[in-house]
Amino acid sequence: MSIMRLGRVQLRVMDLDKAVDYYTHIIGLEETGREDGKVYLKAWDEYDHHSVILQEADSPGIEHFAFKVSSEDELAKYEKRIEQFGLTISRVSKGTRLKEGEAIRCVLPTGHHMELYHEIEKLGTATGTLNPHPWPENLRGIAPHRLDHCLLTGDDVENVTRFFVEALDFGQSEKIMTVDGETMIGSFLFTTNTAHDVAFIKGPDAKLHHAAFFVDNFYDVLKAADILTRRDVNIEVTPTRHGITRGQTIYFFDPSGNRNEAFTSGYMTFKDFPTITWTEDKIGQGIFYHRRELTESFVN
Ligand code: CA
Ligand code: FE
Repeated sequence: MSIMRLGRVQLRVMDLDKAVDYYTHIIGLEETGREDGKVYLKAWDEYDHHSVILQEADSPGIEHFAFKVSSEDELAKYEKRIEQFGLTISRVSKGTRLKEGEAIRCVLPTGHHMELYHEIEKLGTATGTLNPHPWPENLRGIAPHRLDHCLLTGDDVENVTRFFVEALDFGQSEKIMTVDGETMIGSFLFTTNTAHDVAFIKGPDAKLHHAAFFVDNFYDVLKAADILTRRDVNIEVTPTRHGITRGQTIYFFDPSGNRNEAFTSGYMTFKDFPTITWTEDKIGQGIFYHRRELTESFVN
């Protein structure tokens, strides 16, 4: 696959110092750079320079998210495909962001800003690539392996799905349909072999629902709950299972109110994975398999 993975998310935070403290000590990311009032971070198991950028702003949310493409040629190919699909493209020049080359930026049918890029400096990991130990010493906080996916809200779930599938070669692992089968209200999309790399739920345009980090197993989701309780972080949903993706999960909030998830497992996907359908009357079970209903806060 030439669109390799969700490479980064740039989050808007209201107090940069508080946010950096939370993302480094509680999530347990590593700060890798600062420039122009932005802080760059990566998870311990990520090789590239950063996967999260924090930007001070007057309201929380997502400034943009970006997928890493396998080569500059592939980047040019997808630039054409995005134009052919009819989205407006702009170019982000090399050096706009720390340790990154040129990126292409577009506005999705849901109003989100998305970028594709290839060039980024590799920092490597503390365990290295020669006879590595399974994890580095001195991990802090939840210490996820990597950024896993974003769930975004928007009105035009149908067209944003068509864009990812037709223009960017993503697969759709799952969808949520109204009971009459007329309207798609949820869409889960993958370019890796995981259950989802980005997903959309019907709701207000251009908003972040959550950014998710991948941990090893369900015990690490439970340990995340322990760490969040010890640090008095607001937990929205205690450890449970998703029907959709079959992953295990916990939801909580950063100091600005951006929802985060620690996520693990879920099935593998392949190019020929069929799209699983959930009907809206079973959405509670789809999202929270045991509780079988959505919490009030989760849909707001
Ligand atoms: Ca994923
Ligand atoms: Fe999620």
